[in-house]
Amino acid sequence: MKTARLRIAIQKSGRLNNDSMDLLYKCGLKLRPTQSSLFCHVENLPIDILFIRDDDIPTLVMDGVCDIGIVGENVLLEQSLGYLEAGNKKDYIVAKQLGFSRCRLSIAIAQDKPYVNSASLNGLRIATSYPNIVRNYLSNNNVNAEIMMISGSVEITPGLDMADAICDLVSTGRTLEEHNLKEVEQVLKSQAVLIKSTLALNPQKEETFDLLLRRIESVLKAQESKYIMFHAPKTSLPSIKELLPGCESPTIMQLEGSDDKVAVHVVSSEGVFWVTLEKLKHAGASSILVLPIEKMLN
Ligand code: ATP
Ligand code: MG
Repeated sequence: MKTARLRIAIQKSGRLNNDSMDLLYKCGLKLRPTQSSLFCHVENLPIDILFIRDDDIPTLVMDGVCDIGIVGENVLLEQSLGYLEAGNKKDYIVAKQLGFSRCRLSIAIAQDKPYVNSASLNGLRIATSYPNIVRNYLSNNNVNAEIMMISGSVEITPGLDMADAICDLVSTGRTLEEHNLKEVEQVLKSQAVLIKSTLALNPQKEETFDLLLRRIESVLKAQESKYIMFHAPKTSLPSIKELLPGCESPTIMQLEGSDDKVAVHVVSSEGVFWVTLEKLKHAGASSILVLPIEKMLN
């Protein structure tokens, strides 16, 4: 009998595509080269990838055309609010937050406009590609403002006197600055998430999904973790341990030719910053090495 293949929806090109593909490669998926730019067959697992616009990903997963998908929380929330307003129920679960494509959805106004708090938005016209999220935000904050739906180049509308404010995605804030706008309210913080249809999958697909999710969790954990090695006097070990939170029982080895010094090997699950290394050195550690971890299975 033919194995049922899990179908994943991924953004075809854009800000989500690279990191989504990178995650799948790190999970060991080998893609078969294909003529089609829309569809890809995974050689070593029963998985097919469908490449589409990010706006279509929530709908295709909710309708069960794709079993899972990777999409930004901003697009997901906008579409599911639309779905709920149309009287449909939410038909997906967020299986995992993936930590990439981080951005925020914020309201911005002209730099020279006075602003006190969200009440200052009363009576304004706000241009956005996220009408449902903005409507929700305005009603939660008792603000009476007009929403103007525009699908792109939202940031140019105040300069053209088409709108008084905008609500758009921000990551560094450079685009806002270039258009003489200032960020005044953060409406949503967003990152990429793995979503799954709530429709029952057949047992083979469910098994493939469980395997993929376990691998994704391992990859994310390994990305945050570092392997740290250093030498230290035995007497410094208590103070050194306090500097390494998120590290489980270190391996401590005697150094040949030295009675009072040991080598310490430890996995840190929290990433390691320069400040921590400097503190370790100050506490007596030397020959400090920090190595990336490629894979991790607990
Ligand atoms: P598509 O053609 O698929 O509809 P798009 O133009 O709507 O693409 P992109 O600009 O590629 O979308 O952004 C995709 C998603 O990446 C956004 O919905 C958001 O979740 C996230 N994102 C947006 N801007 C940034 C940014 N500056 N840095 C990181 N992630 C971002
Ligand atoms: Mg889009």
